[in-house]
Amino acid sequence: MAFQISGPFGELVARKVILATGGRSLPKSGSDGHGYQLARSLGHSLTAAILPALVPLVLDDACFIRSLSGLTLPATIELRSGTGKRLIAFTNSTLCTHFGISGPGVLDISRHYLTTKQTDAGAALFMNWLPGETFESLEAAIIEFARRHGTSGLAKFFIDRLPQRMAVALCTTAGINPAIPANSLTREARRTLVGLVTNMRLPVTGDRGFTVAEVTAGGVPLKEIRLDTMESRVCPGLFLCGEICDVDGRIGGYNFQWAWSSGHVAGVSAAS
Ligand SMILES: Cc1cc2nc3c(=O)[nH]c(=O)nc-3n(C[C@H](O)[C@H](O)[C@H](O)COP(=O)(O)OP(=O)(O)OC[C@H]3O[C@@H](n4cnc5c(N)ncnc54)[C@H](O)[C@@H]3O)c2cc1C
Repeated sequence: MAFQISGPFGELVARKVILATGGRSLPKSGSDGHGYQLARSLGHSLTAAILPALVPLVLDDACFIRSLSGLTLPATIELRSGTGKRLIAFTNSTLCTHFGISGPGVLDISRHYLTTKQTDAGAALFMNWLPGETFESLEAAIIEFARRHGTSGLAKFFIDRLPQRMAVALCTTAGINPAIPANSLTREARRTLVGLVTNMRLPVTGDRGFTVAEVTAGGVPLKEIRLDTMESRVCPGLFLCGEICDVDGRIGGYNFQWAWSSGHVAGVSAAS
């Protein structure tokens, strides 16, 4: 079998072809999803969903996080199913932006969130702005602070724990004046604040899409590829590598690694 290939270079016939077109991320680079059409035309299928991965998330217009644009702080972001089951969590630097949230932890969880949402509409993300603290430990710490420094404002409690802008925004969102004496806080107000700090449900309305996403989740299923050579199981002589395959990794160079490693195997195999 031979492949007939045409392009700006003219036409050529080849016995072996490597499809290395990438996914749909950053379409201005040329990786606009056209490779998927080529793969399908050669007999391959595609995963049911092809979604942005390592992508910042957009929050509701009214969410206070959007007013903290530029603020970076460590946080734990957790994905829960519609039934409340903890699915996965990442603790890392989180960036508040004018549209929502970004940063390594958010990018890492984005592919899990977006793929889970495909089958579980109730799935949601929760933020703990004080990683390491639980609802119980933070509430106990505030009670102890109020006992020892009752006349000090809550802002003082958070001074070593959170950036001031975040502390003020969390208190205000919980309906609390951060300047009020800690010992005048009602139990209800305290628990509202603690819930917001340690277990804030993020009002995610969308993602920044393929024009911003670093990676594409989904693609040609791996079961259609011989992984020892990267040759197609459905179209002999065709090899696939990199992001066109259904592989995506977390932050840390894993996507480059996959592209280079699978490209090396495909190249060596096709040439042998
Ligand atoms: C902004 C950004 C930052 C990233 N940062 C990291 C990082 O820090 N670490 C990491 O591991 N990964 C990172 N990635 C992901 C990584 O770049 C990709 O996973 C990797 O480049 C995929 O390699 P690939 O060769 O499969 O596809 P690509 O790098 O997308 O290359 C595909 C090439 O094929 C060309 N092409 C597409 N269709 C056709 C066609 N029909 N005809 C001819 N040519 C075509 C495209 O123009 C492109 O040059 C980042 C991605 C982006 C967008």
